[in-house]
Amino acid sequence: MLIPRFNYHKPSTLKEACEIKGELKDKSMLLSGGTDLIVNMKGGVISPENIISLNGIEELKLHSVDGRNGQTHIGACGTVSSLIKEKFLLPYSALVTGMDSLGSPIIRNLATIGGNIVNARPAADIPPSLIAFNGKATLCSRSDKRVVSMDEFFLSPGKTILNNDEILSEIILDNPSTYSGSAYIKLGTRKALEISIVNVAVFISLEKPNGPITGARIVMGAVGPVPMRASTAEDMLIGERPSEALFAEAGKAASGDAGPIDDFRGSAEYRRDMITVLTERALKKALDEIK
Ligand SMILES: Cc1cc2nc3c(=O)[nH]c(=O)nc-3n(C[C@H](O)[C@H](O)[C@H](O)COP(=O)(O)OP(=O)(O)OC[C@H]3O[C@@H](n4cnc5c(N)ncnc54)[C@H](O)[C@@H]3O)c2cc1C
Repeated sequence: MLIPRFNYHKPSTLKEACEIKGELKDKSMLLSGGTDLIVNMKGGVISPENIISLNGIEELKLHSVDGRNGQTHIGACGTVSSLIKEKFLLPYSALVTGMDSLGSPIIRNLATIGGNIVNARPAADIPPSLIAFNGKATLCSRSDKRVVSMDEFFLSPGKTILNNDEILSEIILDNPSTYSGSAYIKLGTRKALEISIVNVAVFISLEKPNGPITGARIVMGAVGPVPMRASTAEDMLIGERPSEALFAEAGKAASGDAGPIDDFRGSAEYRRDMITVLTERALKKALDEIK
């Protein structure tokens, strides 16, 4: 199907893009890789009057690791395939695994980290890890710049706290502490081109190699309208020494924290069972990374 007519804008700086977005607001949509936007336009789901392409803006593709304040900055228009290869992302293995399981090689060549976030699908592969790493997002408009927690970014399927004049410019992650590890596990019916039935991202940090656990963040996808923290499971882990029995209990607690529904991909009951299994496995993988 042909896509409807639209006016095309191609700014070359973020400032210029913010000016155009501020002017056109709801009459426009931003284009990064187009793997969601163009598909939705072809399907007749959306027909924006104006498209603002972010592809000519080099500053949105940059990244930096700031050793002094212990933070990593990732430009919103970094493509998934380019980010997977970056050495600076090695300490964020859950994020890299999530990106590596997104779509197919062709999709990953186009898809951007920012597009995956703003698209805000409950089963998306990138947001759970960003929340697990306590990530933040920088949102820019022509008059303002604000930094928001990824934990608060998602409101409902397809909806975020992004205002109609704002652009997501970068993601900020704290550099992981010495005794910390992470993991992401996606459950789908096949390995490629598959949307998660459920997914789990975990991050844990220890005081020293054998514990106790000083930090725990468990984030579940496709079990609620937005990625969900397993708070009961997280609380159960803090202050304890890591063990198989503890992780099995945390898996059960996470299943209680989830709010899944029945749909054609799986029943709510199946999803809860899989959250138990995936959480336990992801915690073990994260611990193995520390040892
Ligand atoms: C065949 C296929 C398979 C897929 N498989 C998966 C999968 O396994 N897992 C998964 O999670 N997703 C999957 N997707 C969805 C999609 O590829 C990802 O969500 C991708 O990361 C979107 O990025 P993009 O750059 O293409 O976004 P775009 O399509 O360009 O944009 C998506 C949305 O975000 C907005 N947007 C983009 N960039 C910004 C920005 N910087 N600031 C503000 N708003 C912005 C756009 O206006 C649009 O609303 C699949 C898609 C296809 C077509």
